[in-house]
Amino acid sequence: MKHLLSAADLDLDAATLVLDTATEMAAMASREVKKLPTLRGRTVVNLFYEDSTRTRISFETAAKRLSADVINFSAKGSSVEKGESLKDTALTLQAMGIDGVVIRHPASGAPNTLSQWVDGSILNAGDGTHEHPTQALLDAYTMRSRLGQLKGLRVAIVGDVLHSRVARSNVLLLRTLGAEVTLVGPPTLVPVGVEDWPATVSYDLDSVLPGTDAVMMLRVQRERMGQAYFPSAREYSRRYGLDNRRVKLLPEHAIIMHPGPMIRGMEIAPEVADSPRSTIVEQVANGVSVRMACLYLLLGGK
Ligand code: ASP
Repeated sequence: MKHLLSAADLDLDAATLVLDTATEMAAMASREVKKLPTLRGRTVVNLFYEDSTRTRISFETAAKRLSADVINFSAKGSSVEKGESLKDTALTLQAMGIDGVVIRHPASGAPNTLSQWVDGSILNAGDGTHEHPTQALLDAYTMRSRLGQLKGLRVAIVGDVLHSRVARSNVLLLRTLGAEVTLVGPPTLVPVGVEDWPATVSYDLDSVLPGTDAVMMLRVQRERMGQAYFPSAREYSRRYGLDNRRVKLLPEHAIIMHPGPMIRGMEIAPEVADSPRSTIVEQVANGVSVRMACLYLLLGGK
């Protein structure tokens, strides 16, 4: 495989290989010297046209632990602000002989387009409302390490499904891995055509929670909302927020996930986010191992 553009690029064997490789990478993180020479002499560019904290730092850490040279490019302060198109930026990268490009872009499909213009491997780090495959991989990794096997696992993805690339990639990957997904949210935030997704839909969170092994809360993406999708923040959290009362409806072993950044008090109560059942910080740590695995498998020539 050359690029990672969509979670659908991975079949069961490929997805399992990424997760197994990530397990090996994680074992290395506990060593004193956290660096592998694998990508020495390779150059990876982080091309970020949209804000990011976790994902950019995570990819940078991952590439550096594999000894790659990393160049960080953010649209602010670059020629993009002068109106340079994605194509011209791509041609510049191509001329410089870049081996891998990690791209985040507000337009769905931008990583796909980029892959036609440069020879290096393209890794989608989030494109518009479309996909965020490495997030889905780190989520699957977290579920596997906490709950064992993914086959038959019951996962609820809750909230702003409509604007969520995290939800889309998770649904695709979890189906491949054999998990059962239920999407929960207000009807206005569930996409049209969802009946074609390999998932069940519910509008009632309380009734879903007792049959859930992992509940994944999504951020309400106000920056992508041109209109009002729900009456008020209070009403939203009353119906779809995860608070202590709702946590009691979950089975004892169930874990609580969030991709971040979270809006405390809106989709998740602060005490729930900080509880021992929450894997939010673990997800961030796992993100580095999973991205190391992706870079290694795509650029390491395996
Ligand atoms: N960090 C994730 C993303 O970039 C989720 C979010 O922004 O809410 O898609």
